[in-house]
Amino acid sequence: MPELPEVESVVRSLSSKIIGRRISNIYINNPNLRNFIDINIGNKLVGSYISEIYRRAKYIVFIMDDFVLIIHLGMTGILLFNGNLSLKHNHVNIFFDDGNYIVYNDCRRFGSFHIINKDEEEVFFSKIGMEPLIESFNYTYLKNLLKGNRCIKSFLMDNKYIAGIGNIYASEILYMCGISPLRQVKDINDVEINNLIYSIKNILTESIKNNGSSIRDYKNADGVFGVYQKFFKVYNRQGKECYNCQNKIEKILVNGRSTFLCNYCQS
Ligand SMILES: [Zn+2]
Repeated sequence: MPELPEVESVVRSLSSKIIGRRISNIYINNPNLRNFIDINIGNKLVGSYISEIYRRAKYIVFIMDDFVLIIHLGMTGILLFNGNLSLKHNHVNIFFDDGNYIVYNDCRRFGSFHIINKDEEEVFFSKIGMEPLIESFNYTYLKNLLKGNRCIKSFLMDNKYIAGIGNIYASEILYMCGISPLRQVKDINDVEINNLIYSIKNILTESIKNNGSSIRDYKNADGVFGVYQKFFKVYNRQGKECYNCQNKIEKILVNGRSTFLCNYCQS
């Protein structure tokens, strides 16, 4: 599933191409994504100019004159700029006044499209936690939240607290700072909190520089695959040697999700 770095890469690869463009047509081939796209609502966007595009958590947000279009890529969603129009699983095509277009392709259809009024944007994102790459995501913010006995890995993946971290980056972040995914959040000390913040920012930033990770079929809007998976230290490396201590990387289940760790380097 695309996480923060992958969605950020899509936004960056799209922004210079579509900001200032007017939507000339929207073609909805299959409205049955995770939510149902009302064709009439889709048509409301025709004629709108895109003034801004940004990422919030794992959402891509298109700001227009009166409306906001919000897209979640789900498990396998891809937004391609001038992509092949005849591919299977193309569900939505958005055409612009300059002849260019974007294609939304999603074979598992867990993605979603939301079209809201401009004044509903704040409410839409009201239950999502802080963006981890902004300055105010710091020791004070995290210290206040690390209470109780839930494990740190499920905390990191809880978008109520931190926006955009999913299963892949949670394992990589915890390996980098030497914290076991099973540690209870209340037991994480002050030094570890600072290490955790450093690891979160470092791993996400490095992944963005590499266009994210392409595990299955993720690509950015230029059709470019991410390459950060080449730098994974633990994810999908079960049975292989830890780069630090040469013991074997293990795969365990945490809340039903595959989790990768080195039992010697992480405690
Ligand atoms: Zn190790």
